[in-house]
Amino acid sequence: MAWRYALMIDPVAPQDSRADFAETFFTVDATAPALSVGELSTQRGDGIFESVGVIDGHPQEVQAHLDRLAHSAEICDLPAPHLGQWREAVALAAAHCGAGESVIKLILSRGVDHGPAPTAWITAAPAADFANVRQHGVRVVTLDRGYDSSVPARAPWLLLGAKTLSYAVNMAAIREAKRRGADDAIFVSSDGVVLEAPTASLIARIDGVFVTPAPTGGILQGTTQLSAFAWLEEQNLPTAYRDIPTEELHRADAAWLVSSVRLAAPITEIDGTRLAIDAGLTARLNDYLLSPRD
Ligand code: PLP
Repeated sequence: MAWRYALMIDPVAPQDSRADFAETFFTVDATAPALSVGELSTQRGDGIFESVGVIDGHPQEVQAHLDRLAHSAEICDLPAPHLGQWREAVALAAAHCGAGESVIKLILSRGVDHGPAPTAWITAAPAADFANVRQHGVRVVTLDRGYDSSVPARAPWLLLGAKTLSYAVNMAAIREAKRRGADDAIFVSSDGVVLEAPTASLIARIDGVFVTPAPTGGILQGTTQLSAFAWLEEQNLPTAYRDIPTEELHRADAAWLVSSVRLAAPITEIDGTRLAIDAGLTARLNDYLLSPRD
């Protein structure tokens, strides 16, 4: 990836009232090493992140991403981020994005082993070209996430509702999906309830209603799913948050994986069964997701 910009952030407390945060930012060479070897994000994946889509220099849904960063920090017992400071850092990164699609990453790590403070930084880079998958879609397989739907409440230390840096399992699921001849995976709980994809939320149209699993601890609340539901509701199309048993997913008449950078990828096959693409709706949804959104 051709990194365009990297900025180290000296995190301040949420109650810090300064008018601008310039003196807490340090631009670094995006192509050179910048982290300490004692960094816990690299040693243990102990930290949280956000990926913000950027269209022609406009960062999309910044507030929703900052809110989720704060939520993840709370779940992980990390210091609460100062959202004004992060918003200013996002604006600086966005100014380096230029035309086309880019991605800004926000990272807040536990810091350096035995060090005094968390480490925080932000990067900007061009996004991959997802035009083809937005139009032609992805084949998915369902994969057992290995826990039942009561686990998020029973074992909060699994940090299931947080967007942590520990994505090795998510990446392994995508490799397994590819081994099975698909492009991506949908995690299901061991008691057969649909969860989310390794890097996206799921929206399915079942009996004419656009449904998505409720973000009640076991999955992330997707910023793109929230935007997509707001748009669908504006079109007078019905939406609902509810449990989706895996068998029900197999009788959906359309489904999408939605996320901040890939946007809406229609699903063309689930566990080997073909699923038709609603090309018109998918194109209109992606046009909306590509328009500037705050
Ligand atoms: N679920 C997981 C596990 C993800 O990693 C992501 C995005 O990376 C999403 C859902 C979708 O979130 P968003 O729409 O905010 O990108």
